[in-house]
Amino acid sequence: MNLRLERTKVPKKRPSDQELSGIKFGTVFTDHMLLIDYGEGKGWHDGRIVPYGPLSLDPAACCLHYGQLIFEGMKAYRTKEGSIVMFRPDRNMARMNESCGRMCIPPIDEKEFLAATAELVSLEEAWVPSAPGTSLYVRPFIIANEPFLGVRASQSYLFAVILSPVGAYFTEGLSPIRIYVESDYVRAVRGGTGFAKCAGNYAASLKSQEEAHKAGYSQVLWLDGVERKYIEEVGGMNIFFVIDGEVVTPELNGSILPGITRMSIIELVKSWGMPMSERKISIGELEDAHRSGKVQEAFCAGTAAVISPIGELKWNENVMIFNDNKIGRVSQRLYDEITGIQTCALEDKFGWVYRVK
Ligand SMILES: *Cc1c(COP(=O)(O)O)cnc(C)c1O
Repeated sequence: MNLRLERTKVPKKRPSDQELSGIKFGTVFTDHMLLIDYGEGKGWHDGRIVPYGPLSLDPAACCLHYGQLIFEGMKAYRTKEGSIVMFRPDRNMARMNESCGRMCIPPIDEKEFLAATAELVSLEEAWVPSAPGTSLYVRPFIIANEPFLGVRASQSYLFAVILSPVGAYFTEGLSPIRIYVESDYVRAVRGGTGFAKCAGNYAASLKSQEEAHKAGYSQVLWLDGVERKYIEEVGGMNIFFVIDGEVVTPELNGSILPGITRMSIIELVKSWGMPMSERKISIGELEDAHRSGKVQEAFCAGTAAVISPIGELKWNENVMIFNDNKIGRVSQRLYDEITGIQTCALEDKFGWVYRVK
C-alpha cells in the first residue's frame, strides 16, 4: 500500500519517561494517525498518515447508532540497543479479521495493514519510551461510517490507528489484585460476540465494573452466560490458575476473547515441560481445589499488564486468598520471560518479535 504522508505543522512535546508514570493510560497521543477508507466497489483505499486530530463523521454514521465497531490493542517497545519492536502483531491483525467476520466488516489484508501500522510507529519512533515497563500502545480500530439509519451492515468504513505512550502498569513490582466473581451480569453468551474485540462488549461490561470499583475490587471475573458456573475471563484479561502443579486456563468457547498473551503463555508453559491444560473449569471446582490447598497461583494475562497476579477472589461469601497474596513463581517467571522477549533482552526462540526499526 502506498501511504500518503501529511506531516503535522505543530509537533507536540512528548512526555518524558518520568512524566509518563504520572499520566493515566491512554490519554496522551502522538502527532500522527493512520487512516484507510473502505468503499463498496473500491475496497480498502487511500491509506494515509495525517496529523492526529478529530474525525469528521456524519451524525447518521451507522457506528454511532448500532455499534458496528471493532478494535485491537498491542504495543511497540524500545530495546536496549534503541531499536523498535512489536510483539506478535501478526496475531492482532489476524484477530482483527476474526472480529471483522463476526461484525460483517470487510476483511483487511493483514500483512499490508500491519506494514502500514509499522510505518506509522516508525514515523513516531521518538514517542516510544525506553524506561522499564513503558511502551507505545498501538490502537487500531474500524468504524462503520455510512450515513443511514437502517439496520444492516455499512457499505463504508474507516480503519484507523492511533498511538499512545504508556508508563509501567505496576510501578513497584507486580502487585496482586482483588477480584470478585460476577453473579448478576454476564459479558457474553454462546453464539454472541464474546470472541470478537467489538465495542459493544465493553459498553455492556461497564455497569459491573463500576459496581466492582465501588466495592473496592479492581475487576470482575465473568462466568459463562448460560450455566453461570464456568469461569470465563476478567474485564480485559484472560485468567489462569496453577492447580496441583498444572497450569489451567478456560478453553476457548466462542464467548472468551482469545488473548495473544494467553496464547503465548500456553506456548511458553508447554516449552518448559510443565503440565498445561485448556479446559472447562467451574467456580465450584476452583473452590474445592482452594479449600484443599491445591490452588498455588491465580493470575490474569493481557497486553496492558502482561501478568496480573490475583491475590483475592471473592465468590458470594467465600473469599479465596491465593499464594498468601503474593506473586507466585510461575506468574513471576512468565512475566520475566514475556517482557524479556518483548524487549529483546531474552532470545526470541519462538519468532514472536516483529522488527519495526
Ligand atoms: C484484549 C482482551 C484480552 C487480552 O488479549 P491480549 O491479546 O492478550 O491483550 C482478554 N480479554 C478481553 C475481553 C480483551 O478485550
